[in-house]
Amino acid sequence: MKTIFEPFRIKSVEPIRMTSRDERRQLIQDSHYNLFGLKSDDVMIDLLTDSGTGAMSAAQWAAVMLGDESYAGSPSYYRFRDAVQNLMPLKHIIPTHQGRAAEAILFSIFGGPGKNIPNNTHFDTTRGNIEASGAMGHDLVIAEGKDTSSLHPFKGNMDIAKLEAYLENHGDSVPCVMLTITNNAGGGQPVSLENIRAVSALAKAHGKPFIIDGCRFAENAWFIKQREPGQQDRSIHDIVNDCFACADGMTMSAKKDAFGNIGGWLALNDDDLAETARACLIRTEGFPTYGGLAGRDLEALAQGLTEIIDEDYLRYRIQTNSYILDRLDALGIPVVKPAGGHAVFVDARKWLSHIDPLCYPGHAVAVALYELGGIRSCEIGTVMFGRQPDGTEVPAAMDLVRLAIPRRTYTQSHADYMIEVFEELHAMKDELRGFKIDWEPSLMRHFTCKFSRL
Ligand SMILES: *Cc1c(COP(=O)(O)O)cnc(C)c1O
Repeated sequence: MKTIFEPFRIKSVEPIRMTSRDERRQLIQDSHYNLFGLKSDDVMIDLLTDSGTGAMSAAQWAAVMLGDESYAGSPSYYRFRDAVQNLMPLKHIIPTHQGRAAEAILFSIFGGPGKNIPNNTHFDTTRGNIEASGAMGHDLVIAEGKDTSSLHPFKGNMDIAKLEAYLENHGDSVPCVMLTITNNAGGGQPVSLENIRAVSALAKAHGKPFIIDGCRFAENAWFIKQREPGQQDRSIHDIVNDCFACADGMTMSAKKDAFGNIGGWLALNDDDLAETARACLIRTEGFPTYGGLAGRDLEALAQGLTEIIDEDYLRYRIQTNSYILDRLDALGIPVVKPAGGHAVFVDARKWLSHIDPLCYPGHAVAVALYELGGIRSCEIGTVMFGRQPDGTEVPAAMDLVRLAIPRRTYTQSHADYMIEVFEELHAMKDELRGFKIDWEPSLMRHFTCKFSRL
């Protein structure tokens, strides 16, 4: 069927302010052509991120009223802990205000100068926390994971041979082995259950704790159910349990697959590590039964975790991405295939081949999508990664534009509208011009730099 059936009715609405093209041309010029500088009221479809931007359900909002704000021993904590443990059989569940707070605590234990930490691909904040501790992070995703046209079903898999060599070469300097499901920085591509088990077995053989960055565990389990031989008749709940049964711990951003607007957690099996982590938690986040969250947040997450594994939801979620991807592909727009779990990526370097990478083709697409359609996307390319520590500038490996899809927030009509905007853009793509950067800060320039059109 062509129609995506959104498995929910709308009970509460948030109006979208309609803007005209002329208005948007002025607004983006006023923000020096930086999409991060726009007010979100001036955006019609906001695809900047899927983090914390999902819609909570009526049951989650009802659960908010049950939040018990006691400092210690709140029943909201125990409901949250039980909801996590129902999916992930891990011993100690430590709530934090976001995923990066869980990472900061984990690497205050495992990090430090001289340490080496492997992952399929470290997410930015994971790498940031590792490097801030003085340690180094390394990405060992399979080669297909870096090939935008490979149709490998599990492009997020760890390269097992590379991991084995890594563990042998780096020996005692490796404090833990990490694996990110789905592989966010690698386009939201999934990791197979077989690969998760192989990574776990290898970590165990070398005596290293195995930590899963589980931000999109439900999307990953859906891909396992669809694509991995022998998994078709199993429930998402059971697949998720199997993924985490072979882990020694996890970090989590509840702003992704827990339907939260805020939240996260760190989980560990080892009693001594958990004790150390809780001491750090008390210093930086809060008492162990609330961490960085209010009781009402814990309630919303406990309920969200029961909803995220619903197969009707997951079908709608993944179908939306492939619906958009297939139509862009049919228009002849180069996209990263297959669609990831939380986003669709357009290959702007290939699409706007007349714009030099150092004139930011990805940024040109992102600005045009806003001017034409009020759509806010995110350049992941030379603007984000081009500036080198020695001050020179080189093209990034790719110039992509990410369309991150918030959970339960937009409908198929919004998707059709986006596709129409792309169709119009495709017809005039040769007229698009590149950009130059007139001012940039010394670090993470993409958030605040000022552009002008060439
Ligand atoms: C979002 C994310 C994080 C960080 O979580 P925050 O809640 O944004 O701090 C870590 N890892 C991955 C894979 C993520 O997607």
